[in-house]
Amino acid sequence: MNTPSLTDFTRARSSERPILLTGGAVITVDRDVPDLPTGDVLLTGSRITAVGPDLRSDPVHAAAAASALVLDTRGAIVSPGFVDSHRHAWETQLRRSIPDVTDLGEYVMSTLSGIAPVYTPQDMHTGTRLAALTALDSGITTMLDFSHNSRSSAHSDAALQALVDSGIRGVHASMAPHFGTWDQQWPADMGRLMDSFHGANDGLVSLRLAALSTDEIAGPGVAYGPRLAAIARDLGVWTSIDAVFGQPSSQAILRWAEQGILDPTLTLIHCTGLSPLAWAAMGDAGVTVSLAPTSDAQIGLETAVPAVDEALLAGIRPGLSIDVEVALASDMFTQMRALHAIQRMRATNAAYGTEETAPNRISTRDVLDFATLQGARANALGDVTGSLTPGKDADLLIVRADDINNMPLNDAVGTLVLGSDARNIETVLVAGHARKWDGQLVGVDIDTLRDEVTGSRDAIISRVAGR
Ligand SMILES: [Zn+2]
Repeated sequence: MNTPSLTDFTRARSSERPILLTGGAVITVDRDVPDLPTGDVLLTGSRITAVGPDLRSDPVHAAAAASALVLDTRGAIVSPGFVDSHRHAWETQLRRSIPDVTDLGEYVMSTLSGIAPVYTPQDMHTGTRLAALTALDSGITTMLDFSHNSRSSAHSDAALQALVDSGIRGVHASMAPHFGTWDQQWPADMGRLMDSFHGANDGLVSLRLAALSTDEIAGPGVAYGPRLAAIARDLGVWTSIDAVFGQPSSQAILRWAEQGILDPTLTLIHCTGLSPLAWAAMGDAGVTVSLAPTSDAQIGLETAVPAVDEALLAGIRPGLSIDVEVALASDMFTQMRALHAIQRMRATNAAYGTEETAPNRISTRDVLDFATLQGARANALGDVTGSLTPGKDADLLIVRADDINNMPLNDAVGTLVLGSDARNIETVLVAGHARKWDGQLVGVDIDTLRDEVTGSRDAIISRVAGR
């Protein structure tokens, strides 16, 4: 591909000179904006201004396209960036430390009880920034950081500053720690955090409340209910609720419905093993859902089956999420492929040799929709990102389809979902800013980062050993 220099691109973006991506396969993930086997995407500043087969001969956009800086995207796929709707970013120095974790209890005791209490604010920054940069490298342009190690105001500030420093579109969901001594500043500190960081980095950073569905893991202080609902309402923020599974969560959901606090400002995470009544209440209330397919299946949360069929039956198209890098992969390709394979296995198996009704098999296009637009909706950013829709921000990927693992290009959605990985991602834009360019993260010295990450990891381990 023939690309201008990063300097020229950055200059065009900041001077609002139009930028024309031309000749690639375009996947919009917007039902009202058709995909194009080859086509153009026009950007101006932070925004997508047009998508079409040939904008230089389009009467409305010809003038802008003619004056544009041109990015030749022949041989590539242009798609929306992925949206992660739930990850605990602070843990990232510990990534893959418990790859064969037995169950949720082992994770809770090893990581949340054993390690989280020794984290310093600087460790929070290092882990969160590493997660965000890795996300960007693999094409995730928006990451919701479910930040549940807020041991002090300084810990929260550091996690938020890491989102700012990485340049990702970041949603900081703030929750108190599960165990150990802490400053008891949460949730009162949320107001200060909102003042300092909501809308930071030119609007790329936003905040919300985070909670658990019940008091089973960490006591009543972090269990969602009328008290936390009132705080979120007063702050004007959404709430992400983790550890939603099984009978206790099903009962909690029905209770929230009765209390009038089950509403579209909630994102319920996991949702494995919920009762049909709970699902019906969620569908009626219009909540969003974040599935964590590998977390559910591999760590084994409740039934261990990602609840995609239950969600679709309730009229909810779910977003996807990474959850914990201590035991799981970092990227969205893994989530899409795992869910695609698991759901189709179950649907086929249900139909095999029986007369029972079985769910329809989901498609690669379904999981791509979950990994982009539906995640954006769960992150309260459905009007801003998640699809290549004129008027939305330019959060997009240029993915090489002529690399050895993708050639020859036969089906763009299939190639993106089933064939691609981080190495194929040539360019990542967040609100039109280049975060990855020519296959490399922009402004990141990998050797310095490695030293910082390794140093933080080593210091954490030695503090745990010295306790
Ligand atoms: Zn989680």
